[in-house]
Amino acid sequence: MKKQPHIILKNIFGYDNFRPLQEQIINRTIEGKDSFVLMPTGGGKSMCFQIPALIFDGITIVVSPLISLMKDQVQALKSNGIKADFFNSSISTKEENEVITKAINGDLQLLYLSPEKLISVSNTWLKQLNIKLVAIDEAHCVSMWGHDFRPEYTQLKTFRNSLPNVPFMALTATADKSARKDIETQLGLSNSKLFISSFDRKNLSIEVRGQVAKKKKLQEIVSFIKRRKNESGIIYCLSRKNTEEVASFLKADGHSVAFYHAGMTFDEREQTQTDFINDDLKIVVATIAFGMGIDKSNVRFVIHYNLPKNLEGYYQEIGRAGRDGLPSETVLYYNMRDFVLYSQFADDGANTAMQKEKLNRMLQFAEAKSCRRKILLSYFGEHLTENCGNCDVCENPPKDFDGTILSQKALSGIARMKEKDGITMLINVLRGSNNADIHSKQYFTLKTYGIGKDVSFFDWRDYVIQMANQGLIEIMYAESSALKITPIGWQVLKGEKTIRLTTPIAAADKKKAQKTLKIATEGEVNKDLFTELKKIRLAIAKEENMPAYIVFSDKSLKLMASELPTTENEFLAISGVGMNKMEKYGEEFMSVIRPFKNVAKPRKTPTTIKTYNLYKEGLNPKEISENRGLSITTIFSHLSQLYMEGKKVDLEKLVAKEVVDKVRVVFNEFDRKIELKPIYEKLNEQVSYGEIRLSITLILKNE
Ligand code: ADP
Ligand code: ZN
Repeated sequence: MKKQPHIILKNIFGYDNFRPLQEQIINRTIEGKDSFVLMPTGGGKSMCFQIPALIFDGITIVVSPLISLMKDQVQALKSNGIKADFFNSSISTKEENEVITKAINGDLQLLYLSPEKLISVSNTWLKQLNIKLVAIDEAHCVSMWGHDFRPEYTQLKTFRNSLPNVPFMALTATADKSARKDIETQLGLSNSKLFISSFDRKNLSIEVRGQVAKKKKLQEIVSFIKRRKNESGIIYCLSRKNTEEVASFLKADGHSVAFYHAGMTFDEREQTQTDFINDDLKIVVATIAFGMGIDKSNVRFVIHYNLPKNLEGYYQEIGRAGRDGLPSETVLYYNMRDFVLYSQFADDGANTAMQKEKLNRMLQFAEAKSCRRKILLSYFGEHLTENCGNCDVCENPPKDFDGTILSQKALSGIARMKEKDGITMLINVLRGSNNADIHSKQYFTLKTYGIGKDVSFFDWRDYVIQMANQGLIEIMYAESSALKITPIGWQVLKGEKTIRLTTPIAAADKKKAQKTLKIATEGEVNKDLFTELKKIRLAIAKEENMPAYIVFSDKSLKLMASELPTTENEFLAISGVGMNKMEKYGEEFMSVIRPFKNVAKPRKTPTTIKTYNLYKEGLNPKEISENRGLSITTIFSHLSQLYMEGKKVDLEKLVAKEVVDKVRVVFNEFDRKIELKPIYEKLNEQVSYGEIRLSITLILKNE
């Protein structure tokens, strides 16, 4: 039978529907054609090459510069029963050889490589592989226009040319129009189709707080965090010193927090990152060095302690919140000092003019008076028709007026200057200024010369920025920041559309948004059950040495806590539960859910019976676990359940009496709460989760 994309989506990944564009991209790839995929962080890019990889009869090569992300992705794939591995500088020679053998033997469906490694092996064993697809993740790294240029990426074209008949897929979350063209050329994607999905992340609320003094800022952050107990979050700071200061301030207030910056040793950084991913650490205060390699889906808030350098970076950073699609919050603090400081940095660096322009746009966003999401999206070339209702401006809208005529003056100026100049020249022409540039370009002969004399330079600047923010014009950074008119802009110019502008007001007069930050509301989710489910998830994650969200996402757990699945079919219907996870973890989760559903007698599901049959054949738990490919904790939980049901399972033989006695003491001490982790910790991690589970069963059953 031909493998169908949507069947794989459901059976392997546990999802019911494709997100927009995923299916088209997958189909095009299966046809053997190149694609360029532009989707926001968390948009679901990986699925676009993972599903073809499972359909093709060969191997898919994934190039990614982010070493830690590779490990995560591979782990996530493996947890769904997919044959995947990675090859980068973090693995030993022995491991390298194992991966090579697997790849050559056709034992891998996906192989992740760093660009350096790819280049170094492209003429050796890689040549022997039956490569069916190549995915270039973070493709913006190939472009000098981008903010994250990596020289190794420029050599990928040679690789592309060596595989002329293999489909290539470039994926990125950030690339403006000029960068996009550049990426296609650099990678040699001559015939690729561009897929741009909406960059709108509706689940992220956007809030900006300007000119807040340091002390107040810290207080606000503390009370923000207090209201979000046990939620994961990231606080971005400008300097290393800042990260340490803010972290120690929060720590003193009793929060689970650590700092992260490039000045720490590799091991320290790894540890912090791992703790965060594994939910052992709730909040990380970091420079922007943090997060690139992080795929954690349950980050609930991102706070910027300072103004980011550009909107690309800002959007990528806030995009790390709410990847699971649940409501998440973002707050940006800024003051003019950040701006001045960055301007000075920019003066020292390369690409100065472009960086400064981007910084200006960042500031304009922060100071904007119209829907922030509209502004952000229009920066990425996407024009929303409605205000979002989920940003601070939408919640506290400023006064506006009909700005059609004013806009038409500016647009007509841009048109007459043939869309070749930037904002300063435009305003000088509108205001009829007299300078050398205007003379040399003969702009004083234009009809628009001097038609905007009555408006001050600064007000014009404000209006033009509002126009850009509303998608009437675009600023082309790669072309000396020339202003170009968008289709909406032409409509306004031709009088087919009206436009609202807001009166510029001095920053000091700005009414501060007074709203209190919302907390994500939950529907029918049973919170106690959710807490319980999180606990088993953490226990499994610890035992299997993988991040909790790879076991199941927050979203899947919430669905479990509202849908209350207690049969295999119901459990499989939960988004994010595929066959493999059902087999591995289903029983353990359902046994927690059952009491909440008042299902008196646990159903005999085939999976426990399978375990029982092997047990009856005389296999010990370890052998059963190996035989079934399930974790030992799962097997113990099956055995406990069988025992509770009255099956002949000799639990006493499986756990020593001394151990049961030890567990009993602690179990009683904790008021007989069936929570494995505290008991595990109290016993100095000496007794395994499985043994604790068996002991509790014995204690409860035998009294
Ligand atoms: P990106 O690489 O674009 O940042 P990911 O590929 O990591 O995003 O996907 C983000 C999350 O969305 C992952 O947890 C992924 O499993 C999930 N996801 C992807 N496609 C779907 C889908 N069709 N339905 C539900 N969840 C999806
Ligand atoms: Zn809005």
